[in-house]
Amino acid sequence: YATKSSGAGALIYDSNHDVSSQQSLTFASELKSAVETNQLALYLQPKIDLGTGHVIGAEALIRWNHPQKGLIYPDSFIPFAEQSGNINKISMWMLAEVARFSGEWQHEHHLPAPVIAINLSARDLVDHLLPNKIQEMLTANKLSNHAISLEITESSIMDDPKRALNTLNVLSDMGLKLSIDDFGTGYSSLSYLKNLPVSELKIDKSFVLNMENDKADVNIIRSTVDLGHNLGLKVVAEGIENQNVWTALEGLGCDFGQGYFISKPMPADQFGKWLESWTATNKKSKDLYKKMK
Ligand code: C2E
Ligand code: MG
Ligand code: MG
Ligand code: MG
Repeated sequence: YATKSSGAGALIYDSNHDVSSQQSLTFASELKSAVETNQLALYLQPKIDLGTGHVIGAEALIRWNHPQKGLIYPDSFIPFAEQSGNINKISMWMLAEVARFSGEWQHEHHLPAPVIAINLSARDLVDHLLPNKIQEMLTANKLSNHAISLEITESSIMDDPKRALNTLNVLSDMGLKLSIDDFGTGYSSLSYLKNLPVSELKIDKSFVLNMENDKADVNIIRSTVDLGHNLGLKVVAEGIENQNVWTALEGLGCDFGQGYFISKPMPADQFGKWLESWTATNKKSKDLYKKMK
């Protein structure tokens, strides 16, 4: 896995060491206790309809409030958790947290709860009990199976395509919507795409962040939107950092979007307030708000 040398998610383990090195063992036990002592935090980033500005959902993104190191971003520990066998515990924590959030929303807000997208890893997809665990979590919180959706990457499927496809078919039959995350960056195979029970493609932010400066990125996005639509899928762009990019994506026919221009991921307990103020100030979404009241 790639090392990260700068920014808030600075490297906290050394990828040159294998998972059994002393440093890795320490990190693995810290991560295990992070799950047990509630150091993990649920952040949400809104997802909007690019044409109307309406909020149609949110993506669940994990953060680690480390007692000494402060806020740690997922790129600095998810790859390690995947390699050291801790990812399933983290995914279950995430699932429980999202279910609890959506369950509580019903009592506290008159607006409908956003559909929350959860990121899954390869190891989750080969767990044949995953669909049962998800069903239990939803039922325990009196949620419909439309309350959450799931994001998977092309590479997470390619680890063990047969088992992954089996799990995905069960999840889709349960009524859960599935998206392909980071589309275009991984191990793409159009013949798999054709057979996957997904309803959405997410264009990776690497194409979106640079689209104002690079015509090739615009062309890739245009082709991806067309490909998605031709397969009957919705297309989402992540990494929208300004109004021009929003407008350009809307012009290319992209359906939905996420990005810092709309909102950075925020602690889940701030989402309700954010949604109220977005709905009140966003001209396009004002009409919807009136309709729902
Ligand atoms: P992702 O699922 O592709 O999530 C999108 C990432 O892009 C998030 O980073 C988000 O904060 C960032 N982003 C969104 N809008 C913008 C923007 O306008 N500009 C820029 N520069 N960045 C933007 P984050 O939260 O650091 O997550 C990184 C990755 O970690 C995620 O990529 C996902 O693959 C993984 N991840 C996060 N939470 C979980 C989790 O609960 N489970 C698993 N398995 N993976 C997770
Ligand atoms: Mg994602
Ligand atoms: Mg993504
Ligand atoms: Mg990504």
